Amino acid sequence: MIIIFVIRMWTEKLIKWYHENKRDLPWRKNPEPYNIWLSEIILQQTTVSQGTPYYLRFIKKYPTIFDLSKAKENQVLKLWQGLGYYSRATNLLLTAKYISKNYNGIFPNKIKDLKELRGIGDYTASAIASISYGVPSSVVDGNVYRLISRFFGVFISINTLNAYNEFKKRADELMLDYNPSDFNQAMMEFGAIQCKSKNPNCVKCIFNKDCYAFKNDCVGNLPVKNKLNKLKSRYFNYIFALDPKGNFIINQRTKKDIWNKLYELPLVESNNNIKIEKLKANKLLFKLSSGDYNSLMKINSKPIIQKLSHQKINITFWKLNVFKLPKYGIKVKNLKNFPVPIVLEKFFNHKANFEG
Ligand code: SF4
Repeated sequence: MIIIFVIRMWTEKLIKWYHENKRDLPWRKNPEPYNIWLSEIILQQTTVSQGTPYYLRFIKKYPTIFDLSKAKENQVLKLWQGLGYYSRATNLLLTAKYISKNYNGIFPNKIKDLKELRGIGDYTASAIASISYGVPSSVVDGNVYRLISRFFGVFISINTLNAYNEFKKRADELMLDYNPSDFNQAMMEFGAIQCKSKNPNCVKCIFNKDCYAFKNDCVGNLPVKNKLNKLKSRYFNYIFALDPKGNFIINQRTKKDIWNKLYELPLVESNNNIKIEKLKANKLLFKLSSGDYNSLMKINSKPIIQKLSHQKINITFWKLNVFKLPKYGIKVKNLKNFPVPIVLEKFFNHKANFEG
């Protein structure tokens, strides 16, 4: 009884804080499932400030799930460009098509049915069900891990298998009979703007009197996260084969790998930073120039480093001036229709790369 009373006090305090401090976010104005789903998928790997412009662009172009369901995959990938994890964009489209066709455009309200949809796991299903339909299922994202681990002193590593279930159980217990939408959004919002990962202002926190981490001076140690394995290094050599008319070739990535379905320049992947002599002997160069090219030169003297979650990509651009391309090339002005990795977008935006 006493425990329930204490939890009730805690949750009431949190929800009160939420109503007084919540940010004015566009998907909160109309929390229908389509808006919540879109925002949650976009925000899975990015911050609110980085993700909001993407959300607004999607909603503008595809105001309803039916509009999105009719989009071409390339259009969705283009709009997603820069967010990474491109399979999320293709899943977005597949789910939009599925819901439009099988559910007449209305998201199901049961967690079990939501989890059947492509790209929707327990987290997103709980967010949609609780925020849009009032289903009492807690959401556990990075913000929730942080708040619970610090306040209650939970030292389970959050990147282990059972962490999600353990934290979800605790969050469910805290929800009691409060409005699930308010509760879940309050938990996430508190972690995002008060119990921040770096330098939270604990002195001004409503929970500081009872917070385990604050009282024990271990705020910076929580949540616990096991060290990940070293990033795997990969070496990408992009061949910018340019003909005298300014045409060049791009190809779509089709293997199950990073940047799947995006477009890129012809690629030679090497085991380390490749020497020009070795690259000259590569059969791709022969193919691109029919064995007859004007010059080959390295564009960036030091590799451009792109760090992804498990990989470190070392990227070098090489310019190959060819007399004639072996197949139909495109001009830079036509690139707007093709989704490309950001590193290539930057490359194409740099006019000097087309000169000389
Ligand atoms: S006192 Fe600090 S660590 Fe504890 S809940 Fe508040 S902000 Fe988080």
